Amino acid sequence: GARAGIVVTGTEVLTGRVTDRNGPWLAEQLRRRGLDVGQVVVVGDRPDDLRSALAYLAATNDLVLTSGGLGPTADDLTAEVVGDFCGRPSAVDEALAGRITAIVERLMSRRGWRVDPAATEAGTRKQARVPHGAVVLEPVGTAPGLVVPPAEGDGPPVVVLPGPPSELQAMWPAALEAAPVRAVLDRAVELRQDTLRLWGTPESELAATLRRVEDQLAGLEITTCLRDGELEIVTRYAPDAAAAYAHLVDAVRGDYAATLFSEGPDVDTLVAGALEERSLTVATAESCTGGQLVARLIDRPGASAWVPGGVVSYANSAKEQLLGVSAETLATVGAVSPEVARQLADGARARFGADVGIGVTGIAGPGGGSPDKPVGTVHLCAVGPDGVVTRSLVVPGDRAAFRKRTVTVGMHLLRA
Ligand code: ATP
Ligand code: MG
Repeated sequence: GARAGIVVTGTEVLTGRVTDRNGPWLAEQLRRRGLDVGQVVVVGDRPDDLRSALAYLAATNDLVLTSGGLGPTADDLTAEVVGDFCGRPSAVDEALAGRITAIVERLMSRRGWRVDPAATEAGTRKQARVPHGAVVLEPVGTAPGLVVPPAEGDGPPVVVLPGPPSELQAMWPAALEAAPVRAVLDRAVELRQDTLRLWGTPESELAATLRRVEDQLAGLEITTCLRDGELEIVTRYAPDAAAAYAHLVDAVRGDYAATLFSEGPDVDTLVAGALEERSLTVATAESCTGGQLVARLIDRPGASAWVPGGVVSYANSAKEQLLGVSAETLATVGAVSPEVARQLADGARARFGADVGIGVTGIAGPGGGSPDKPVGTVHLCAVGPDGVVTRSLVVPGDRAAFRKRTVTVGMHLLRA
């Protein structure tokens, strides 16, 4: 097999001002091609830190990738540092400099800016510096990427890609075609990846099952992850370990028949599929989740076929006026109650003329809790052609976690 490591550069990523999208994206692309990704390292725009990250990753990997730091300004240092690291001094590639100049002129005139050649020339010549013997990946924005083989033949090739995710992704196919990268990919073993999903089983219970059948699971790389109350079992294995995977599936089916809700697709896909198949529409009435449930439904392309809309009714008056929740119910049992969840669901269904209505009401906190209704109390109700399903629970976590988790509960209600 072959392994790869990734360095993500950029002080904005290190400090969290920008969330890293390149590390996970590249890791997924590499995994799909059978490369094992050992590490994703984030460094700021400091050459020394980039150098030590390269040294760290080169020690244990067959391929190293970098993202970011290819711009025209002085703080964009990746190409130069990687060239030095690989023992390949850089020089300006005149033909490439000409192509970058043309790109810059085109971009600027499109934006109605006048090009001052003197002002852009230094940056262009910097971006056209190529380590001796490197493969140039044609610019998608203005920055070219690089594939830099090691000078001495030992050490991994380094693939240098731009920071903006759309540029990096557009350049990726060319990187895969470069000879030094293909040589590594030829040694990769493509692995299968399958996912089992449980709803309502704690991780500790699953661990007991895995221990019991451990002897039959040789060749499987199993990772379990508890996310918003869903337990995901992701398994990677070489095709010759398919029998071991079948043992795992049998064991999980046997022990968790009631909570195993999928042997592949996620809950969003199952909900969309079920609604589409039966030509049903769903409308939401949300209080504590502030529209996140309808947003999650609409995240899927094609949602217009099954989501007419949703209402965010936070105040009691909005629940009454927009959704017809009874003032008396609000006064007697309170807004956070199964009765109001039911009336919200009915209201959404009626107002939108939908087949299914779902209502959510709860206490996201940190304030507003009481002994009989602690923070995290939430009631959900779905009303549809198959009847009424109500769920009442106390969801752990802070305000953000509460909302995310509650939305996931809502998705499971719609699945059922
Ligand atoms: P540029 O020519 O735009 O400077 P570059 O290759 O130097 O390209 P960076 O300067 O590192 O790239 O990043 C440019 C912008 O791209 C960042 O401000 C950020 O918005 C986005 N970006 C960079 N790296 C990442 C990342 N890992 N994840 C998400 N966005 C990123
Ligand atoms: Mg930059």
